Amino acid sequence: MKIYDYLIIGAGSAGCSTAYFLHKEDKSVAVIDREGIAGGASGAAGAFLSPLPGKKNLYNTTVNDALNFSIDFYEKLLPDAVDKKGVLRVANDNFQEDKLAQNHIEHTYFDTKKIQYISKDFRDIDGYFYENAAVIEPIQICKELTKECDFYKEDIKELTFKNGYYLANGIKAKNIILSQGVSSHLVDIPYVTISPIFGLRIDVKTTSNVPFNIHKSISVSTNKRDGNISIGATHERHDSSKMECLTTCDKCSFYVNSDDMQINTLLAQADELIKLENLEVTKIYKGARATIKSYFPVIGKVVDFEASLKKHPSIKNGTKIPQESLEYYPNMYIINALGSRGFVFGPYLAKILTEHILYNTQIPKELSTQKLFYKMARNK
Ligand SMILES: Cc1cc2nc3c(=O)[nH]c(=O)nc-3n(C[C@H](O)[C@H](O)[C@H](O)COP(=O)(O)OP(=O)(O)OC[C@H]3O[C@@H](n4cnc5c(N)ncnc54)[C@H](O)[C@@H]3O)c2cc1C
Repeated sequence: MKIYDYLIIGAGSAGCSTAYFLHKEDKSVAVIDREGIAGGASGAAGAFLSPLPGKKNLYNTTVNDALNFSIDFYEKLLPDAVDKKGVLRVANDNFQEDKLAQNHIEHTYFDTKKIQYISKDFRDIDGYFYENAAVIEPIQICKELTKECDFYKEDIKELTFKNGYYLANGIKAKNIILSQGVSSHLVDIPYVTISPIFGLRIDVKTTSNVPFNIHKSISVSTNKRDGNISIGATHERHDSSKMECLTTCDKCSFYVNSDDMQINTLLAQADELIKLENLEVTKIYKGARATIKSYFPVIGKVVDFEASLKKHPSIKNGTKIPQESLEYYPNMYIINALGSRGFVFGPYLAKILTEHILYNTQIPKELSTQKLFYKMARNK
């Protein structure tokens, strides 16, 4: 039986990017997904790569660093799957003019006259143009990232660890990476509480020319290489009043608004930005984004919550225990909670995680598993 160095569970942006960087370091890597490559949220993504404007803070700095890294990375990886034509951000209630204008990201203000000069199809809008923005083909990208790795279409219900090796549906490996998106963790990780945010995105055909991506409350892409324009995406929380959960979040259909309502909302919001002539919806995509309260993604070694608290019960009272003294699941790592920016974060986080695993480099605190562990342990 082949023994892999790494077994990655979940073939979305997180898992595929991690597979790529580990393989580049000459590690043997297997990737598993019950739905195929990019069968979860990653296959549904827009996939828009846009800056997060506003006054500098830790979160938008992380997003914008990730964006700069990832656009460059994808352009080198698979240029044919990247349309980098920039994005026009139009102010809305959440993102008013000052946030769009006052920041360190290079931008140009386009008034209505200039926008009308670019295309008569634009509605009466003005906005801020950011050059470093793109739209990519998410499924092609995920396939390219994993093309040198072995892929297994399996549903893993259980992981066993024996004599230093993990076994999952007969596949054996020394190390495990959990990149499961909204699906239930395969081991107990109570401090990483994932909330799904469901979303729907559409592809449309139109005879109109959209010169760059446009974003207000939703995004409208430029005309992509396949002739489509992506419009997305909605944000829907689970309607928990309806019924108990009988399925995993990525399969759930109990959301507040029907597909038709969501499609109509997307089309109406797109129409506020630009007139799309001879419009025809060609494909509907649905998925669930994995988010946690802090909005930061999480990467790193998987802390064993119960064993760590048993070893250091005084953590609950605030005693500072260094992270090296915590208990961890052996050779197990996680990369998750990429939220609405899975393709912005994917390669950036996967590189940090790979360097941490192989060279013991530090993971920034705000992204670490330990930060979430301490928070929950102290609240217990
Ligand atoms: C409608 C929509 C639009 C979006 N638009 C954008 C966008 O424009 N830009 C952007 O950057 N991001 C966007 N996102 C967010 C982005 O898609 C996600 O952040 C990203 O895909 C998350 O990647 P992931 O690998 O963590 O999760 P996923 O892609 O969900 O991958 C997790 C995978 O794990 C598999 N899995 C889990 N458990 C098991 C198991 N036990 N056995 C086997 N397989 C398992 C699942 O089948 C799934 O395929 C959007 C998301 C949605 C839903």
